[in-house]
Amino acid sequence: MFVAVGDKNGFVVNKEVSMDTAQMMELSPVAPIDAMMREQLLDRQALLRDAQFSSAFDTDLSRLLSEVDAALVRLDKGTYGICEECHDAIEPDRLIADPLIKLCLGDLTQKQLDAIQDDLQLASEIQKRLLPKSNFSSEFWQADFAYHPAGVVSGDYVDLIPHDGELYFILGDVSGKGMAASMLMSNLHAMFHALVPLGLELCEMMTRANRLFAESTLANHYATLVVGKINANGEVEMCNAGHLPPIVVGGEKSIELGSSGLPLGMFSDSSFISSGVRLNPGETLLLFTDGVTEANDLEETEFGTDRLRESINGSATGHPTELLQTCVNAVAAFRNGAARNDDMTMLALKFTGAVN
Ligand SMILES: [Zn+2]
Repeated sequence: MFVAVGDKNGFVVNKEVSMDTAQMMELSPVAPIDAMMREQLLDRQALLRDAQFSSAFDTDLSRLLSEVDAALVRLDKGTYGICEECHDAIEPDRLIADPLIKLCLGDLTQKQLDAIQDDLQLASEIQKRLLPKSNFSSEFWQADFAYHPAGVVSGDYVDLIPHDGELYFILGDVSGKGMAASMLMSNLHAMFHALVPLGLELCEMMTRANRLFAESTLANHYATLVVGKINANGEVEMCNAGHLPPIVVGGEKSIELGSSGLPLGMFSDSSFISSGVRLNPGETLLLFTDGVTEANDLEETEFGTDRLRESINGSATGHPTELLQTCVNAVAAFRNGAARNDDMTMLALKFTGAVN
């Protein structure tokens, strides 16, 4: 789901949020992007001035400094973020990535477009290397994931981190899209790979992750996320930060586990509670992003959790890889050629029991 924050006159930030999140957020009528960009530009101005002192006569520094000065003048005049060619608003995520741009995507030259395409390809390669090993198993569990970005890069985050005989699993969805969202995804990856080895209590780890993420991102960026761990007895402990509830399949009936907690990075002092579930041998915990349940058919009907559960029925006791393939096929069949507009990620963790 997308919520437009701000006014049409210059800065509209489309934020991807879940229904719950939309209700939780008090959307201010005026986007904070102006103030944010001014702050960024002033920082750059100060850095460039310092650099200029230490390396006199550097023409590139002088050019950048005059561009920053000009951007600040545009902010004062109210023309900042407006394309110089067509006078439409410049895409906000591009402005955040480069506050000095003066043209919207539609008015770039082919050479400029090619350069952006190259950057995206590189980002996509880097992102693929951040994915966990596929078809991951130990004597107690089998795990696999399906990762389908809607564009070249994804704002979804999936991870599996073994630590001290337990398996940590993470599935999340960063607000927004494209390059900015993928940068935040890599930020989450680095953070959890640093936090998990500390062996903290799960809630304490989430509290720290939340604070770190809130401090490192822009004010209106956050992530919905489930972080959990499973041990050799099939005991699962999870914290859910505003994400869709995972489901347990393969037992007598599928169980939906509740959601609690605010998205990561929304408020720097959020606290989290964890919940637990015990998987019987043969049961699978399935986590997914809203790109799965909100996939549309040609009539704009959403796939939804019920269809997801129905589609799983036949393959609930199979290997996670088969289960995921069944789900991916079901979503594709349901869409029936309708355009995809969101990243789609699923993670399946099957508890196989101590003795196979
Ligand atoms: Zn334009």
